[in-house]
Amino acid sequence: MVSRVIPVDDFDLVIFGGTGDLARRKILPGLFRRFCAGQMPADARIIGAARSEMDSDGFRTLVRDAIIEFGGDDLSSRRELPDFLLQLHYVTTDARGDGGWKELAAQMRSGVVRAFYLSVGPGLFADIAERLTSFGLADAASRIVVEKPFGRDLETARALNHDLAKHFDESQIYRIDHYLGKETVQNLMAVRFGNILFEPLWNSQYIDHIQITVAETVGVGGRGGYYDKSGAMRDMVQNHLMQLLCLIAMEPPSKFDPDAVRDEKLKVIRALDDVETHHIVRGQYSAHGDMKSYRQDVENERSFTESFIALKLQLSNWRWAGTPFYLRTGKRMKARSSEITVVFKDPPHSIFGDEGGQHHNELSIQLQPNEGMTLDVTIKEPGPGGMRLVDVPLDMTFADALGPEADDVPDAYERLIMDVIRGNQTLFMRGDEVEAAWSWTDPLIEKWQARSDVPKPYDIGSNGPEDALMLMHRDGRRWRDIKG
Ligand code: NAD
Repeated sequence: MVSRVIPVDDFDLVIFGGTGDLARRKILPGLFRRFCAGQMPADARIIGAARSEMDSDGFRTLVRDAIIEFGGDDLSSRRELPDFLLQLHYVTTDARGDGGWKELAAQMRSGVVRAFYLSVGPGLFADIAERLTSFGLADAASRIVVEKPFGRDLETARALNHDLAKHFDESQIYRIDHYLGKETVQNLMAVRFGNILFEPLWNSQYIDHIQITVAETVGVGGRGGYYDKSGAMRDMVQNHLMQLLCLIAMEPPSKFDPDAVRDEKLKVIRALDDVETHHIVRGQYSAHGDMKSYRQDVENERSFTESFIALKLQLSNWRWAGTPFYLRTGKRMKARSSEITVVFKDPPHSIFGDEGGQHHNELSIQLQPNEGMTLDVTIKEPGPGGMRLVDVPLDMTFADALGPEADDVPDAYERLIMDVIRGNQTLFMRGDEVEAAWSWTDPLIEKWQARSDVPKPYDIGSNGPEDALMLMHRDGRRWRDIKG
């Protein structure tokens, strides 16, 4: 396969919060990878803007150190690093005051794409958006990128949308959900809508149920204060799991265009039924050996916030009525794994009798730690001895067929930043999608808050609370094993 790196137009990318954790861990190493791949124009500039006092040389040192720390050996040893660093600049900027803004405006070139990445807390979105226009940095063609969390409920999300809309048109706003930037997520759309094979079966007549698991082994880390006010529902389900659910469940858009795709995703969120109380399982991890409990980690012995949640959801539409969607996500679980599994129904009749056993197809889409897609297919166990059937995974990533280039795909952040420069919003959340997701999330949270529901304890390194297993067992189903 021939590499198809298509260079993007010349750009000035300003990263607000350019010295922060996300910028150092993901955004800047990602941009360097695109530079190495030959996708960044020679004159493109990346301008860090943050509170810390430093000059451009100081910023280059910070970025070089970040690439060494987070980019892995392969990246940090690339000989292109000095050239990349020359494309970096820095302006000390106060998002809440006037300091640095004139200098920043003076740095911007005309006739190139201008993009502003807000890698800062949402409390600064309104201040920055306002100054981008009042200091003349943004024009009608500029793009603004915002990070999660996009609000903590419908009201705050609406307020953020409103603040951004005062200065930017929706077509200029890029709300990042990095799950959408994953190669496999896009491959899911290619498999669904590029083949005749799957779509006729993609409904409740042939699909028994769908599972979405996002399991983490880490705890709340240094984010305890934020996390305890948020919990797994707000931090993971409202955005990442909801987006995955939308892509799995949506109707085929008429074309692969930002609004056509996002219109279909929005319809999925609007078709979600209210969730019954016994279809919600919340959990908190307990202490184990040297490892602290959730409550110790967040330093709140009376916390009722969930570090795990499992849900059984139903969609009220023709395609999915009768096919449940089971979602679960949690911290300190058995392994780090993000996976979607589409479990097809058993064949209506087995011609092989008892000897053949019960078999069905499963399409499994892995997003983390490794990306991949497998389809379990039932075949005859080779050799003599009758018609014994066995399920074998068919590798749908076809890495061998596509050659070594297939392994060399950009990571989610890299791809999404390049999409911003290209002006392609397909893989970004639209304002109404985010609000619809909160409209669905808020009443669920209110429901358990009204009952003062206490999360169920679960062991560190487990699959979550026993009740989450029961959520499926009661329906005669079981979760797919979490494998890292
Ligand atoms: P951080 O605290 O490490 O960095 C914040 C950055 O904002 C710093 O560069 C700081 O100088 C700058 N800043 C703060 N106040 C400022 C002001 N008044 N004026 C100018 N600059 C100011 O935070 P982070 O972890 O990099 O996260 C940034 C955003 O991205 C947050 O909204 C976070 O929720 C989100 N996010 C982070 C991650 C991650 O892995 N770190 C992942 C997903 C989303």
